[in-house]
Amino acid sequence: MVNFYFDVILHPKFTVYWLKVPNILYVTASLQLPAVHFCFQLHLEFFCFILRLMQSPAGNDAPPIGFVVRRCSREVCGLRFTALQNDTLAERCPLCRAPTLVVGSGYERLAVQQTAGLERGLHLEVMLDNIRSAWNVGSMLRTADGAGVRHVHLCGVSATPENPKVAKTALGAEKSMPWSFHADGTIAAQALKTAGMRLWALEGGSRAESLFEATPALTSSPIVLVAGNELSGVDPGILSLCERVVCLPMQGVKGSLNVAVAFGIAVYFMRFGG
Ligand SMILES: [Zn+2]
Repeated sequence: MVNFYFDVILHPKFTVYWLKVPNILYVTASLQLPAVHFCFQLHLEFFCFILRLMQSPAGNDAPPIGFVVRRCSREVCGLRFTALQNDTLAERCPLCRAPTLVVGSGYERLAVQQTAGLERGLHLEVMLDNIRSAWNVGSMLRTADGAGVRHVHLCGVSATPENPKVAKTALGAEKSMPWSFHADGTIAAQALKTAGMRLWALEGGSRAESLFEATPALTSSPIVLVAGNELSGVDPGILSLCERVVCLPMQGVKGSLNVAVAFGIAVYFMRFGG
């Protein structure tokens, strides 16, 4: 992979373009006249296009993606950040645009080793009732997959995995996670309860107890954790069917967390923290 980029330096009278290719430094300048300026831009963009064609790899033998640590060369700035090894944009400081230098050697992203199967820990299913944001649904599916949730019940307006926005945040989890859709969450909740599942709502109010105090109850039969709408919360009709209402302790000024974040904490605690 060859690094190249072109940059534009604006001057009241001139525009200087410079194109950096290994072993070649291509510099050109043009008068700040709109037509000339436009021609130079076209000329450079065409040159870049040809270079890209010349450099596109013939086979699919790309090395694993590596990262580097970079630091801004301006001491007063000193921004330190990580970037893809071949990211030419990272050659400039994101804060002050000064050149950056690579610190140390490249590294690979550290992946978490896959842990033991679903059999371990609580049998947990989740119900996402009327989650307004498809991105939240995608994020929650990804969390459910990571935590070993058995099934996701999507109810009401909650987007289903066919929605491209869900796929964008679920990053593949939408394909592996078993799910079903129910137009009416109360009917689904009643059916799950009749089938012997225990329904727990992730919600506030007078019935709510801290999830972290509910550990003894986490050991027995399957639980369905219900998460509700970002604004209006869990449907009262579903809430009345829930055996317990659990919440996360809030110590700041806000009364609740982002639904996908709260869901993530609750699901991981119920699966592995009890
Ligand atoms: Zn800087």
